[in-house]
This record gives sequence, structure tokens and C-alpha cells, in this order.
Amino acid sequence: MSDPKRVAIIGAGMAGLTLARALAGHAAIRIFEKSRGIGGRMATRRIEDRAFDHGAQYITIREPRFRDLLDAAAADGAVERWNRDIVSLPAARQDGPRADAPRYVGKPAMNALPKWMARDCDIAFDTEISSVSGTPGHWTLTAGAGEDGPFDWIVATAPAPQSAALLPPAFAHHAAMQTTRMHACFTLMVPLKPGAATPFAAARLDDPVISWISRNDTKPGRDDAPCLVVNAGPEWSDRHIEAPLESLRVQIIEAVRRYVPLDSTEADSAVIKRWRYANVARPAGQPFLLDPAQQLASCGDWCIAGRVEAAFESASRLADALLPALRETPP
Ligand SMILES: Cc1cc2nc3c(=O)[nH]c(=O)nc-3n(C[C@H](O)[C@H](O)[C@H](O)COP(=O)(O)OP(=O)(O)OC[C@H]3O[C@@H](n4cnc5c(N)ncnc54)[C@H](O)[C@@H]3O)c2cc1C
Repeated sequence: MSDPKRVAIIGAGMAGLTLARALAGHAAIRIFEKSRGIGGRMATRRIEDRAFDHGAQYITIREPRFRDLLDAAAADGAVERWNRDIVSLPAARQDGPRADAPRYVGKPAMNALPKWMARDCDIAFDTEISSVSGTPGHWTLTAGAGEDGPFDWIVATAPAPQSAALLPPAFAHHAAMQTTRMHACFTLMVPLKPGAATPFAAARLDDPVISWISRNDTKPGRDDAPCLVVNAGPEWSDRHIEAPLESLRVQIIEAVRRYVPLDSTEADSAVIKRWRYANVARPAGQPFLLDPAQQLASCGDWCIAGRVEAAFESASRLADALLPALRETPP
């Protein structure tokens, strides 16, 4: 028996974790994650005593494989349905056909799902990969002053512009990566006073500045401390991507006050987060990018669409394609 192939996965979001789970037992997998925590755009941010789902707000399901994952996580208490109504404001706005699809959330926070998925994964946190060098089958990753390798395969699951910057020029799919476009998003996290009332649990907004407000504490398993998560709209976020955060924070607070009363203490304690690559404006149009000759690959939501399930789907389909190559023994 030859040694298992060594696979390095860059990124511990939904795509990276899905791939690691699918390849487990078929290769030696190590995940490298630049953040301290897990989940990427499904991460949870703690501010004082409150946990905010400051990335993905909820999950919807289209495909049976993804349903199986969520059913298993739900059986372990890591996921639950979020049944509260989402209103659209102004009320005349028409939502798409999937507006009423069942919605699921991690419990007690969105990152519960990636945490549950990562239980048996080998993850190097706080490790930002700055370059990939070497030759097919002998790749080395550099992070800060350190190196790790050799790896047989490298898979980058960071958003397309970041993955493109990491993968060597020899990767066959740089052109496809360049065609993708991602929207930015500014997220505002607002702790509310105990007992604060809001006119809705969640709202999609047709507003020049913001597109979403939700009461994070209406999701299952959260504690009672009331708090809001607000997303700025994609076009507004793109236009303001380099603007000073404090000025954007003030503009978003003004916009929130059109829908939810905020007193000065609540406004002052609001925290803003910039997502440079938040959602997918133009996907790669291929479910994953695989270069068997170079033993390099890339996947993530940006291959398909800006949804948690799309990240899962991209990584699952890449795993299906990679497994035969991992079983091959060298001549
Ligand atoms: C504000 C916001 C709201 C959203 N709302 C929803 C929603 O309601 N429903 C929904 O389905 N989807 C939503 N999405 C989209 C959803 O979060 C993503 O589609 C999904 O989480 C993408 O997963 P991924 O694994 O492809 O990428 P990511 O989650 O971005 O994972 C990539 C990982 O790579 C890491 N990384 C990047 N560069 C490096 C490096 N050089 N070295 C090491 N690690 C690196 C990152 O830290 C990250 O953890 C939202 C996203 C945002 C930002």
C-alpha cells in the first residue's frame, strides 16, 4: 500500500470543510485558515456578551446531499429551522419564488454548523497562506516565515480573487477565475437595550443604503439579549468599499432608523464589518476548477452562486472528481 496522498486545503469555510469531509479516509488532509475561528463567511462575531451572525443569515436547501448534511447536523442539535416571517419593505416589493422556502440556521450561532463539520479535521488556524510554490505533487505552502509541505495537491477555497492570487501561474483556470465578480457588503451589528421592540423579526429592504435587517435573537438557541444584524446593499457597498468605516457606520445607522428606532446608546455601540468579497455577482459558471496535470484545484460559492449551499455543492462536486485521482498509485 502506498502512502495516502497529501492534500492541502486553503480555507475553513463551507467549501473547505465540505471537501475535507468528503476526502477524509482517502487522503491525508490539512486545512489552512487565516482567521482565528472557523466558518469563513458563516463565522460568528462576539461583541461583549452577544454573538452576531455577521455573515450568512440563514441557509436554504435545494439538493438532497445538502439536505443529508443539514439533517445530520440537526440531529446533533447544530442546526434548526428558523420559522420567523421575513417581511419586505416597502410592502409592495415582490420576492422571488424561493422567498418562502424553509430557512435553517446554525444553533446556537451560525458557526455551529462549520464547527460541527470540523470535528475531525486537522486545521491550522491563524495561518494566512501567502504563496504556493513547487511542482505538481511537491507543492509547498508559505505562511509568514513558515513553510509546510510537500503536498501532492493544493485546493484553494478562498473567494475567487484571493484564490487566483495564491495559485501558481501554471494553474489552467486563471482565465475563468478572472471572469468572476463578487460584491462587497458592510454589516452593522447593533446591541439593543433589554426589552427593545422592533416591528419585524427580519426584513428585506428596497432602500438606497441597506438591504436587510434581522433580529438575531429571534433565531433558535440564541440567548435573549436583543440585537440587530444589518446588511448594506451590494451596489452601495461596492461604491463605498474604500470609504472610512466610521462614516459608513453613521450612514448605515441613519438608514436603520428609517425602519427601527435606535437610541444614542444603541447607535454608539453598533460595530461595522467590511466584507470585501461577500456575495457572487458573476459566478465562474463551472462547478469547480480542477487542473489534474498541475494537481491544483479551486472551489467555493463563487463557482456557482452566492449561497452556503452553492459552496457545499462546488466542493462536493470537486471531491467526486478528485477521488479517482487520489486513489491512483504512482507508476
Ligand atoms: C454578509 C453576508 C450575508 C450572507 N447571507 C447569506 C445567506 O443568508 N444565505 C446564504 O446561503 N449565503 C449567504 N451568504 C453567502 C455565504 O456566506 C457564502 O456563500 C458561503 O459561506 C461561502 O463559503 P466558501 O467556503 O465558499 O467561502 P468562505 O466562507 O469565504 O471561506 C473561505 C475561507 O478561506 C479563508 N482564507 C482566505 N484567504 C486565505 C489565505 N490566504 N490563507 C488561509 N485562509 C484563507 C477565509 O478566511 C475563509 O475562512 C452571505 C455572505 C455574507 C458575507
